[in-house]
Amino acid sequence: MTGPDAPASPLRLTIDTAALTANWRALDRRSGAARAGAAVKADGYGVGAAQVAPVLQAAGCSDFFVAHWGEVAALAAHVPAARIAVLHGPLTPADSAYARAAGVRPVINSIQQAQLWRAGGGGVCDLMVDTGINRLGVSLSELDDPVIAGLTVDVLHSHLAAAEEPDNPLNRLQRERWQAARALIPHRRAALANSAGIALGQDYHGDLTRPGLALYGGVPCAALAGHIRQVVRPQAAIMQVRELQPGDSVGYNATFTAAAAMRVGVVSVGYADGYLRCWSDKGVLRSGERALPVLGRVSMDMTVVDLTRAPDLREGDWLEIDYDLPQAAQRSGLSQYELLTLLGRRFAR
Ligand SMILES: *Cc1c(COP(=O)(O)O)cnc(C)c1O
Repeated sequence: MTGPDAPASPLRLTIDTAALTANWRALDRRSGAARAGAAVKADGYGVGAAQVAPVLQAAGCSDFFVAHWGEVAALAAHVPAARIAVLHGPLTPADSAYARAAGVRPVINSIQQAQLWRAGGGGVCDLMVDTGINRLGVSLSELDDPVIAGLTVDVLHSHLAAAEEPDNPLNRLQRERWQAARALIPHRRAALANSAGIALGQDYHGDLTRPGLALYGGVPCAALAGHIRQVVRPQAAIMQVRELQPGDSVGYNATFTAAAAMRVGVVSVGYADGYLRCWSDKGVLRSGERALPVLGRVSMDMTVVDLTRAPDLREGDWLEIDYDLPQAAQRSGLSQYELLTLLGRRFAR
């Protein structure tokens, strides 16, 4: 059954494709002799895999990483399946069969996954070696297991636990263990660095890097500040303009009370869209250069802002949600990763 097309959403995500391109190129350049790939898991960090993948590919990116098998199809509509790797690897025989049918590479993270992959017919895969994050990955002591040694490995991966802290001794230790793994396991390419890892220098680059956050405008470490541009600009429409009288309160639990008569706007964004309650009485929406403070609690579907500085604004006008990621993270207490991946489905992308 098909109904009429839904009218335009009062929420939209503007994606600056020139900034996305520039960020990938900056990270590729800073990867030195290595090529930069792209982590596009979690729907392109919430930005929209279908939106970002073609842009990244046109910029020159040819290696893409997702976490789940369910994320493959949306991506494979835009980039060659053979250039997609699935970080979580196979958990069931069905996962292995799917990888072979779809023509994507699993990242093998354990002896058990290696067995699953080979039992299903095997083929070229990636291998994740755990060098100290103790999340997914085969440990160094397992690398001589015949099941692992018999894999045909394209990319030999490891993943840094504290790359955004250049002085953390774990970086060096992980790099040394990754080098040891590279000497033990035949592979075509080696990869270690996420966004922040790229800034640690060429010893961390190998043949391929896996930036995610910084592609989308996140700045994980000081060394990348000034090289990364904002990509995502969430916008929401004003649904109603109200005139408050002195003593009127706003929103659930009346946490804001007007001291004087004022004009406010009810905006179509709430915590269901990823604009969490931590922005209550604290966030800022913008109209051009004008900052419009959030008044009272953020609700599920709406947020009220002060329009004192923007007397010209009316119902239907668009406001930009302040989403400079480093600043927004500092103000909200959320991480830059969370700010991106929270962005909800009601945003038109
Ligand atoms: C998510 C992820 C990345 C990307 O990390 P960022 O910090 O977002 O650049 C790289 N490698 C692996 C294994 C990941 O899971």
